[in-house]
Amino acid sequence: MSHNVYQMVTDRIIEQMQQGIIPWHQPWAGGSAMAISYTTRKAYSVLNQFLLGRPGEWITWNQIQALGGHVRKGAKSRFCVYYKPLEEEVADAEADEAERKFRFILRWYNVFHLDDTEGLESKLEAVSQNPGLKPIEAAENVISSYLSREQTLRFICDRESGSAFYSPSQDMVVVPMLSQYQIPEEYYSTAFHEFTHSTMHEARCNRKTDSHITRFGDKDYSREELVAEIGSAMICNRIGIESEKAFRNSAAYIQSWLKALKNDNRMIVWAAAKAEEAAKFILAER
Ligand SMILES: [Zn+2]
Repeated sequence: MSHNVYQMVTDRIIEQMQQGIIPWHQPWAGGSAMAISYTTRKAYSVLNQFLLGRPGEWITWNQIQALGGHVRKGAKSRFCVYYKPLEEEVADAEADEAERKFRFILRWYNVFHLDDTEGLESKLEAVSQNPGLKPIEAAENVISSYLSREQTLRFICDRESGSAFYSPSQDMVVVPMLSQYQIPEEYYSTAFHEFTHSTMHEARCNRKTDSHITRFGDKDYSREELVAEIGSAMICNRIGIESEKAFRNSAAYIQSWLKALKNDNRMIVWAAAKAEEAAKFILAER
């Protein structure tokens, strides 16, 4: 191989993306990264996600009663909103006829988190899918060595959250458990994605530019996602645990963020350089 592994991975990601749209899929089973309606199984709007403040299944009082369940003592409901179309007749002075105009009024209703109810069963996929999955030693070694060097960083495998994230304020990485994945490579791919985020810390690779005001979908947020996913792909490749499935999924993920960056391919080059720095930091190669 003439050029280095980091460049090789970047080239292959670009190559994958040039082949067209690759759909990203959540590689772990169980949980729900979003707030969804227990009855319709649909995700709430972004505004309602924000109002509810917690992923999982939500249900109204009436629906709970209808299904024979009840609300746990002391449980509090949250409200969410919707716009109700209101048809009204508005007299028009110019034209001599009534004109129909539609307006929307904001309405709200209360919902309870399924955890705050009794007698109803979650319809989310069973959490533990593959309890027999074996950890991969090379990957476990990278994780334990990184954690032993970075004393402030906490690592939690959580079966409840149904999501993977790095919290800069708590310096904490959370990922679903190994048994929630179909193949162990995807578990490590997720973990290395979040560990790459953890290198944004000032004491590590210091990419913490305005991260406190960075919002989902922002340019900075999208760029950081590129760094994390390329970094993860690099680490998996470097320690020899790359799987075709996990790699394709990485390319799909990167592609979706690139779209948010208006397909600016230069961004990949920028992100790849930052990702290489992060991957080397995690692997203690510098
Ligand atoms: Zn991320």
